[in-house]
Amino acid sequence: LLRVMAETQLQASTDTLTGLLNRRSLSEKVSAMQEDLQPMAVAMADLDHFKALNDTYGHDTGDRALRLFARVLRDSLRSSDVASRYGGEEFAIAFPDCSATDATRVLDAIRTHLDAALTVGGLPKFTVSFGVCETQPGEDLDAGLHRADEALMRAKRLGRDRVVRYEGLNSEGEVVEDLTSSRLARDFAVQIEE
Ligand code: GH3
Ligand code: MG
Ligand code: MG
Repeated sequence: LLRVMAETQLQASTDTLTGLLNRRSLSEKVSAMQEDLQPMAVAMADLDHFKALNDTYGHDTGDRALRLFARVLRDSLRSSDVASRYGGEEFAIAFPDCSATDATRVLDAIRTHLDAALTVGGLPKFTVSFGVCETQPGEDLDAGLHRADEALMRAKRLGRDRVVRYEGLNSEGEVVEDLTSSRLARDFAVQIEE
């Protein structure tokens, strides 16, 4: 009976297709986290043109693609990070004890890992867009996810297949600080100095 109860509880908290936490259990897990895990970054992910992938290759291939993406997430994140299937082809991730800058680097790496895993797995190529932001101390998860979602919308409008950091946008929603290119520029400057 105890085993059945434990299994039922696990089923209720996880998404059956991907094995990730579902939206409700993400929120429970994050609200149970210690305050000293600040700064915390949160991200929203949305697979790009996923309807077209389903329409072209069929729903089964779409399901395999969702499972592969979930595996890439699990393999790329730290054990303290919390990834969830937020719904459909959307995912939410919490990065405790992590700045939005560091989370951006992880998410950029996930885009590369996804591309490699699709090649190895023989699945049709697709990409993912991310929006990320840093939460304020004491702020609830939904408020952070709302800003991450705004950044995600901007990533979609800018052409998809990218990470947009909320803190890098101005009040018009334009990207004023692109971490990827500024990091490249900085690394390049260091090389020249050397
Ligand atoms: P965008 O780049 O703007 O996000 O375009 P999109 O096509 O990904 O967005 P849209 O919201 O139009 O379509 C989402 C698609 O995701 C449609 C739906 O069939 C598919 N999807 C959602 N959940 C599942 C699922 O569990 N399995 C499969 N195979 N497809 C799913
Ligand atoms: Mg969507
Ligand atoms: Mg989509």
